[in-house]
Amino acid sequence: MSMNREGRPTRPETTTQAANGTFTGNRALMLEEALIFEIGDTHTTGVDLEKAPAVASRLGGLERNRSIGLAGLSEPETVRHYTRLSRQNYAIDLGLFPLGSCTMKHNPRLNEKLARLPGFADIHPLQPIDTVQGGLQLIHELAHWLCTLTGMPAVAMSPKAGAHGELCGLLAIRSALEARGDARQVILVPESAHGTNPATAAFCGYKVEDIPATKDGRVDLEALKARLGPDVAAVMITNPNTCGLFERDMKAISDAVHAAGGLVYCDGANFNAIVGRVRPGDLGIDAMHINLHKTFSTPHGGGGPGAGPVVFSEALAPFAPLPFVEKNGEGYRLIEEETAEEHHAQSFGRMTAFNGQMGMFTRALSYILSHGADGLRQVAEDAVLNANYVLRSLEDVLDAPFGHSGPCMHEALFSDEGFADGFTTLDVAKGLIDEGYHPMTMYFPLVVHGSMLVEPTETESKAALDQFIGALRSVAERAKAGDEALKGAPHFAPRRRLDETLAARKPVLVWKDTEVAQAAE
Ligand SMILES: *Cc1c(COP(=O)(O)O)cnc(C)c1O
Repeated sequence: MSMNREGRPTRPETTTQAANGTFTGNRALMLEEALIFEIGDTHTTGVDLEKAPAVASRLGGLERNRSIGLAGLSEPETVRHYTRLSRQNYAIDLGLFPLGSCTMKHNPRLNEKLARLPGFADIHPLQPIDTVQGGLQLIHELAHWLCTLTGMPAVAMSPKAGAHGELCGLLAIRSALEARGDARQVILVPESAHGTNPATAAFCGYKVEDIPATKDGRVDLEALKARLGPDVAAVMITNPNTCGLFERDMKAISDAVHAAGGLVYCDGANFNAIVGRVRPGDLGIDAMHINLHKTFSTPHGGGGPGAGPVVFSEALAPFAPLPFVEKNGEGYRLIEEETAEEHHAQSFGRMTAFNGQMGMFTRALSYILSHGADGLRQVAEDAVLNANYVLRSLEDVLDAPFGHSGPCMHEALFSDEGFADGFTTLDVAKGLIDEGYHPMTMYFPLVVHGSMLVEPTETESKAALDQFIGALRSVAERAKAGDEALKGAPHFAPRRRLDETLAARKPVLVWKDTEVAQAAE
């Protein structure tokens, strides 16, 4: 066992090594991988360069005089390191990804091919407008289809994620209210809202108040009506909501909010459950973000990339952010400044430096055009069918708190009721890892105890669903029977249970090379 300069073994001696009983700690193709700084040495380089001939320095004494602390590895060592790490990750290309409220669906390779066309991939936002007409046309055409699918007259393309879209929508709402001299302070958010909704409202300086849910998991319309008044700026409602249910009273909610002088924000991240079937514009919604990276594909996860265009009603369209792409005779122009033109004069400004996520626009348009109107409608129907198949296949073993409220939308919600004493949703999630699945979303939404939210998406076959259902059923039965071995799961992953609280509160993100640190002092 070789040691590095700090006396650490270059392959760290872990419990895995002992447990696996192998010299390396590896278990067949499951490879133990140390930090890159533990494998490489900061004093060497991976390339054999001859010593440079002495030259007179022209840096005026500013040249570096100590190692920069990068691990010196050869190309194959570097490639292996990152490839090994990538194999420890779970991905939609490896298997079903049941995360609810995330829409982890297969991303057609056609999208990738089109997004890589040099005419889209290699353009620069500062190029002269007459050299990027095709790019502007693509943004304009995608904007057209987003407006058509949602039944809304305007869309802001630049927001870069769902949460960013929420911010955009609330800034437009605030501008509209300020324009009429109405400084309302409160935003109402249902208990079942996605966490980003209250966070966005608070970030905008609003006071956030809860709206309770009814027993069947939907917004309590009467409680909402009772709370409306001259201090309520807007409601933020996720539809379909995070219990996986369609808010059937949406039109009545919008009418009541409008009658009280407020505006309606809809979190449309779950649009894939209703695309081609429901137009949010018909439900009285004033602003809604669409997660292109969920509804209209694009690989995502690990924090990016995202694209969250926001559609607006007539009432809010004048306040939408810049820039806009507009058709101008045969060509396209980019409107980047507030102009005297009526529809841009009141814009609240910019959300981002440039025009949005070009690669994701290309993928989304490719997805929309390759599916067509009938195909998109079927996306929603199949997503809902698959979720209901999961719900009904498991409700004899897992408690489905809203199973009685009729069919679910695109995700199935279960609770931990009926588990043996001391057994939790966390145990089930860890058990699923041993079964080779990424766990479902857990402990969200908050309205259900020990919730497990499963979103299979429309891209899974019946065979794939059956296998997942079998795995979850088996783990759930172990939780109900109080199988002690489940408390130690995962048994077959590279690491067992981590101290997740400590990892979140005190993450160690920086490798400290003590020698470099000492030299710097
Ligand atoms: C994913 C999601 C969001 C946030 O979208 P990001 O792109 O991750 O910022 C907001 N609301 C709901 C309902 C979501 O599912």
